[in-house]
Amino acid sequence: MNSKNADVVIIGGGIIGCAIAYELSKQNVSVIVIEKASRVGTEASWAGAGILTSHASTHEPYPELCRASLAMYPNLASEIKDKTDIDIELIRSGTLSVYFDETEALGLVGLAERRVNRGFTAEVLTPEQTWQLEPAVSKSIAGAVLFPEDGHVRNPKMVTALAKGASKNGARFVLGNAVTGFVRENERVVRVIVNSETIHANNFVIAAGCWSGQLTSMLECPISVSPAKGQIVLLETMPPIFQRTIDGLGIYIVPRTDGKILLGATVEHVGYDKTPTLEGVKQMIDAAVVIAPELAESKFVQTWTGLRPYYRSGPCLGYLPGYENVVLASGHYKNGILLAPITGKLIAELLISRKPSLSLEPFAPV
Ligand SMILES: Cc1cc2nc3c(=O)[nH]c(=O)nc-3n(C[C@H](O)[C@H](O)[C@H](O)COP(=O)(O)OP(=O)(O)OC[C@H]3O[C@@H](n4cnc5c(N)ncnc54)[C@H](O)[C@@H]3O)c2cc1C
Repeated sequence: MNSKNADVVIIGGGIIGCAIAYELSKQNVSVIVIEKASRVGTEASWAGAGILTSHASTHEPYPELCRASLAMYPNLASEIKDKTDIDIELIRSGTLSVYFDETEALGLVGLAERRVNRGFTAEVLTPEQTWQLEPAVSKSIAGAVLFPEDGHVRNPKMVTALAKGASKNGARFVLGNAVTGFVRENERVVRVIVNSETIHANNFVIAAGCWSGQLTSMLECPISVSPAKGQIVLLETMPPIFQRTIDGLGIYIVPRTDGKILLGATVEHVGYDKTPTLEGVKQMIDAAVVIAPELAESKFVQTWTGLRPYYRSGPCLGYLPGYENVVLASGHYKNGILLAPITGKLIAELLISRKPSLSLEPFAPV
């Protein structure tokens, strides 16, 4: 058997594993990322819509994590562009959440108030104000709330940029083989098994998305991170008809800089099945055409699915119970693109000094 060594082995080359590798490698920590696919970022991190939302609706301290991560994006985007020449296409044009009736209005206006109380900006708009911003929105809306701090990125480019940046800092990538086992000594993991190789490290990070629970089970510490399938539909309108992300009726519409429009996403707890379905596609197209009737004329480009890592109170960040050198960084569910920068930073701080700048206790794996 061949053997490799690193300070930290990261299992999983999605956006979370690559963000951690990038932050650690910036601090001269030697890192090996092990990814079962032949490239990084082929799973949820490729499939995601790339929305950076300031209004993920959950209780503190989760919004604090979101706020901190969103705030990191502008600097990270330019730092990584300088380092790798990859533009992650960060666009901070806001989200417009439209509503059609009184019940939806109550929910959204309440959400806007809670967001403002937590330090974000939100603006309640009349239908006329909404149409001034986005003329393609249906004339049957009853109003909208604008969350101007929201943005979006091209997540596949973000993963590639983080991996390239980490690699330039010295991180190594072992691609094309899964981790299939661990070698333990008391409360420490000392090696992982990858094909016919064992890789030795002082610390291990499990960042394997919705497969993370399978790996923790190999360590007799089952953590329930499960797949939540999401379907996306890609359309094209030329010229582009939206400036900003629109959401409503349970879907979102994301305009990309290349004239494509992304509709997303279903939430289906159906195991590891990634088959796109007519029902899922129909659900999004029907809602999109109610929000913006003009979309009925757009060109259908393609559809795809991805598996979000769902954890009941996610994300799940911290040392695995019973192990002094195994960290779990998973369960980011619908917000893994948003939360990648802060996750990378906090997990790197945890591993280097055991003192992350934001407390990870509320997110500890249990
Ligand atoms: C349709 C859809 C829309 C989304 N939209 C958004 C959005 O707009 N904004 C947002 O913030 N988030 C969004 N998300 C969520 C976001 O994409 C995820 O939270 C994020 O990508 C999770 O990243 P990850 O690195 O944990 O997982 P993944 O990207 O799934 O990466 C895990 C990696 O681990 C590898 N792996 C697994 N097991 C092993 C093993 N044994 N050995 C080696 N490697 C292994 C896998 O091959 C994979 O590459 C969306 C997700 C989906 C599916």
